[in-house]
Parts: sequence; C-alpha cells; structure tokens
Amino acid sequence: VDTIPDRVKVAVIGAGQAGLSVAYYLRRFELVADEDFVMLDRAPGPGGAWQHRWSSLRLGTAHKVNDLPGMGELGISFETADRTLPAKEVVADYYGRFEEHYRLNVHRPVDVRRITNDGVDLRIEYEDLSPQPAEELKSRGFFGRRRKTFEAAAPPPAPRGELHTQYLVNATGTWGSPFVPYYPGMGDFRGRHVHTSDFASAEDFRDENVVVVGGGTSAIGFMLELEGVASGLTWVSRRPIDWLDRQELDLEGASAAVSRQDEAARAGRALPSVVSGTGVPKSRRIAAGIERGLLSAKPMFDRIEADRVVWSDGSEAKADAIIWATGFRPELRHLAPLKLREKAGGVTVGQGAAWHDPRIFLAGYGPQASTIGASRAGRMIARQIMAMI
Ligand code: FAD
Repeated sequence: VDTIPDRVKVAVIGAGQAGLSVAYYLRRFELVADEDFVMLDRAPGPGGAWQHRWSSLRLGTAHKVNDLPGMGELGISFETADRTLPAKEVVADYYGRFEEHYRLNVHRPVDVRRITNDGVDLRIEYEDLSPQPAEELKSRGFFGRRRKTFEAAAPPPAPRGELHTQYLVNATGTWGSPFVPYYPGMGDFRGRHVHTSDFASAEDFRDENVVVVGGGTSAIGFMLELEGVASGLTWVSRRPIDWLDRQELDLEGASAAVSRQDEAARAGRALPSVVSGTGVPKSRRIAAGIERGLLSAKPMFDRIEADRVVWSDGSEAKADAIIWATGFRPELRHLAPLKLREKAGGVTVGQGAAWHDPRIFLAGYGPQASTIGASRAGRMIARQIMAMI
C-alpha cells in the first residue's frame, strides 16, 4: 500500500463499478487534484465484487455487465469480450486496466472500519490488510469469516490508520454483507452452510446431497451446475418463481423494479429484493432445465435437522450441504457511527446523496445497484460534489 494521505477533499471507499465510475468523472477532467483525492478498497486486486465470484460464472451466463464510462477510450468493452471466459477474470482485467489508464491509484487492501463525524470533516479509520495472508482476503463472506474466526489461527494484526475528508463517496456494494434468513434448527445442522459468497465450484459438492435455497438467478445457476455432480439435489424457494416468457430480462420489469428501489431509498426504507420485482427470464439453458424437471422449486422447508431439512407435512430431504442463495444487503457497517440508518431500516438516499448529511454520497445503493445503475451514478454524484467543492 502506498502512503495514504492524512487529509483529502474527496475519499471514495470501494473500487467496484460504482466507485470507479464516480472516480472517473472526478479525475478524468482533473476536477479534483491528485493530492485531494483518495480511493480505498479492501479487496486484494481490481474487479470489485466480481473478483470473488465463482469461476464457472461466465461473462455469457451473467446478466449483462455494462461498461464503465470511459472504457471505450481504452479500446475495451464487455460487449466484445469473450463470453466464454470467467466473468471474474474479464472484469478484474478490464477494471485493472481502467484504474491504470486513469491513474486512479487505488490503495488496497485497505479495510475501512469506521467513519465518524469530526466537525467539518469526516474521519475515516482503516486497517491496512497488506500483511495479511492472501487466503484471508479472498472471501470475506459471512460463513467464511465465521469459519476463519473460530478455526484458523488469528491473522497478524493489521496496522491502523486514519484520514480526514471533506466529502465521502461510499461505494462498498453488498458482497461483504451476505443475507441468510433464520430457520429453526440451523445451528444443529451437521453439514455445511454455504452462502453464494462462499460458493467456489460445483465439484466441492460431488456425491453430496445438496439443498439450494433461493428464487433468483444465482440459485438457478447453482442447480444447473450441480446436476449430475451432487448425488441428491433439492431446490426450495420462499416465493413461487416468477418465470418470464422471454430469454432476456424484461426492460419494463427491470425499470419498475429500479423505481421501487428508488422509492424505498428516498423514503429511508429497507431495500426490496430486486428479483421479486423483475421475474426470471427463461434463457434456453433454463427452459431446458425446466423441461427436464430439474428446475422445479419446492416451497420453503420448516426446519433443519442434523442431516436433513423437513417440511410441515412431514416430508424431508437429506442434506450434506445447504446453499443459501438468499442475497445480500448493502454493506454499511462502517457508517454506523454516523447514524444514517432510519427506523424504517434503510438510509434515506436520493440521486446518490445521503439526505441527512450533504457530505456523504452512497454510490451503487438501491436504484444504482446494477452495473448500468452504478455507471450512471458516477456522473450524478460527481456533479453534485463539483457543485459544492
Ligand atoms: P462492488 O463490486 O461490490 O464493489 C464494492 C467494493 O467495495 C469492493 O471492491 C469491496 O472490496 C469494497 N469494500 C466494501 N466494503 C469496504 C470497506 N469497509 N472498506 C474498504 N473497501 C470496501 N449486476 C449486473 O449489472 N449484471 C450482472 O450480471 C450482475 N450479476 C450479479 C451476480 C451476483 C452473484 C451478485 C451478488 C450481483 C450481481 N450484479 C449484477 C449486481 C452487482 O452487484 C452490481 O452490478 C455491481 O457490480 C456492483 O458494483 P458496486 O461497485 O456497487 O459494488
């Protein structure tokens, strides 16, 4: 990690699509000088959350990954990239080139632990994770973290530091905040609980009985990959799957879901699930899976026992592993001292700006939580900062 300055005008936390997009607009036209700007990211390398996704998630099987603004100048585009390559590799490669070209000088791996109010400025307390073993940094998922905390030797302590900033762009995404609903008996399960953020490869489940929980594209992708690998495979969803009679995401459905996100963010409510608003398009691969009976979701089970899940009617399915493809929540723990969260469960945000504190912007939050939304957020937020600086 190069030396992190003590004081800047603008600090961007998170170098995923949203953070890079804001940084591009601020830095491309040198609206904010080098010495007034800093970008911190917890991950070991470029790519935002994409670098942690499983290798079998190809660019062609992900939803559309939108380009960052200014990528064209580098002669790269996800549109023309090889769709058979793992999405994690292509995104990490392109984001890395983007950071270099626009000299964004992201400090990593640096974990922001706490942001507090320091009068006119905000104080950012961080840990420099560079002395930590690479394994430790790879996945920071919920189960991963818990497993490591209890079973592995404690990693060496990370040096701490602090810096002051006038404006904060929080672009920390959701990957570090996996959501797992509670079901009775969870703690008694002797198999493995695995969240989407911990999934590495279907091979890890060879010849096991697997229960996949969730009604979105991640759950469906896991079912397709585990077929023929796992010895028993059960799919459950809390809601019936809203299949769309089309192969691609319906733009109208998607824009209605984005509007619902926007309404919730503006009202400070907890954000609704995206997939419940868009429905699930039937690609050819998915349609074939439905046709052969693989993709038929059971309702949610009632409880979990040591080696199985059990429904209220007494039926059961054996389980060596339960994969929770149950989504993520915005990662905002480090902002807790600022008390931005409303009683209604969310942070009040309009056009990327935090309503209760004009120095703070949440890029990639709510309606901006897609690669297209995150890209648009850049211009919207950079403009507001430039108007104040
Ligand atoms: P991220 O890419 O998550 O970047 C956040 C960055 O902040 C990370 O690099 C992280 O290391 C850093 N960070 C977090 N907390 C801290 C901290 N405390 N201190 C320092 N750094 C921190 N969208 C699409 O448009 N198309 C898709 O195909 C698609 N597929 C998806 C598949 C999955 C499984 C998931 C979970 C999401 C998918 N999305 C997709 C949505 C996706 O999250 C967004 O599109 C977009 O990539 C998010 O960008 P971001 O910059 O907001 O967050």
